[in-house]
Amino acid sequence: MPVQPAGDDGTPPFPDADLMYIADLLAPPERDRYFGIRRFLQSSVRQPSIEYWNREEFPFGLLADMGKHGLGALQLDGSSTLFKGLMYVELARADVSLSALAGIHNELILGMISGLGSEEQKDRWLPGLKSFARLGAFALTEPDHGSDIAGGLETSARLDGREWVLNGAKRWIGAGTIADFALVWARDAADGEIKGFIVETDRPGYMATKISNKIGLRIMQNADIVLQDVRIPAGNLLPGATSFSRANELLRDSRAWVGWQGAGIQLAAFDVARAYALTRRQFGKELAGFQLVQQQLADILGNASASLALMAQLARIQQEGKLEMVQAAMAKATITRLARSSVAMGRSLLGGNGISSDYEMGKLFGDAEILYTYEGTYEVNSLIVGRAVTGKSAFH
Ligand SMILES: Cc1cc2nc3c(=O)[nH]c(=O)nc-3n(C[C@H](O)[C@H](O)[C@H](O)COP(=O)(O)OP(=O)(O)OC[C@H]3O[C@@H](n4cnc5c(N)ncnc54)[C@H](O)[C@@H]3O)c2cc1C
Repeated sequence: MPVQPAGDDGTPPFPDADLMYIADLLAPPERDRYFGIRRFLQSSVRQPSIEYWNREEFPFGLLADMGKHGLGALQLDGSSTLFKGLMYVELARADVSLSALAGIHNELILGMISGLGSEEQKDRWLPGLKSFARLGAFALTEPDHGSDIAGGLETSARLDGREWVLNGAKRWIGAGTIADFALVWARDAADGEIKGFIVETDRPGYMATKISNKIGLRIMQNADIVLQDVRIPAGNLLPGATSFSRANELLRDSRAWVGWQGAGIQLAAFDVARAYALTRRQFGKELAGFQLVQQQLADILGNASASLALMAQLARIQQEGKLEMVQAAMAKATITRLARSSVAMGRSLLGGNGISSDYEMGKLFGDAEILYTYEGTYEVNSLIVGRAVTGKSAFH
């Protein structure tokens, strides 16, 4: 299998895709940690993930190893925004599904419980979550409401004495079949506000069905969830999550995380395309020696570098507390557009072997489609930017 660890071949001066030395912006201790985790991901996660992806199976062993490297606690361990982002890059470079799991886990699950949860909720869930011993799912999207979820959300919550009673359906919920709990967004029947609830997955009336036959993110166990008169204690409402604006702050940060993923998938596309071009021979010489092939490698690397540089600057403004939805949406839309183009070039560069996920590029090709669509589609993120620069909403 033509899988090489990134930067293994020291012959050309620039074998590594981080041409602009973005990783050098990290302070030395974080830089050492970055290279250590990157080696682990390239040597222990990248190759094994292919078979799991093919089988649509979840690699619990790999997740435990990721936990040992601290990837389950990035949100709470004091890491810089750039370090956390570069972790998402390297995760996506090794496997996009596992980067999705780590991103949702850190940005949305840890972010929500630590930022919006009660002391009791923090004590109960955070220790297990930090090592990946426990998993949460982020349940916002519904079968009939995706892009218009903020206005259209139908799942209901009704306070009955000391319990909330939840009814409704959710779709596409990552880790919905394997998580210990779902963070469910539901509309309070009393005041009409959208609120966040912790729903343990073993509660009677919680039913999750795996969504199979996906063309990408096949390791992530996405689920259709039905909530039928699910009763949870009053204390399972997150005290800080009592309106959709709180969800929106988290969604801003998770859009930025998808930007990092989009950069990472392009580094992976470059790694795979470069390795293939250097080994595959046609017309008596390596593909790497043909001008048109070099053009494609240069284009993928240019897209990847532009994406990474954009995210490095986004990390700076995020660290300073200046990140707004418009920057996150612009980065997410732009980078996933570039990512789609990069993996398409990589796919064609591998010829027929680009069609098989065994050569990785086919896997990246499918995964890029998910990045383009989740956390707000390309179109919806573009409309957020359009509204910010014109003052006119074109959503409806
Ligand atoms: C693999 C995967 C994992 C996911 N994980 C999660 C998860 O863990 N938790 C969760 O809550 N959700 C999750 N999602 C849901 C995801 O966020 C939604 O799929 C996404 O927001 C789009 O919603 P939709 O699929 O309903 O598409 P729709 O909203 O029906 O959109 C269909 C098309 O119409 C376009 N469109 C819609 N409105 C407009 C408009 N006003 N103007 C122009 N074009 C428009 C869209 O851009 C899109 O092209 C996941 C989705 C996928 C595919």
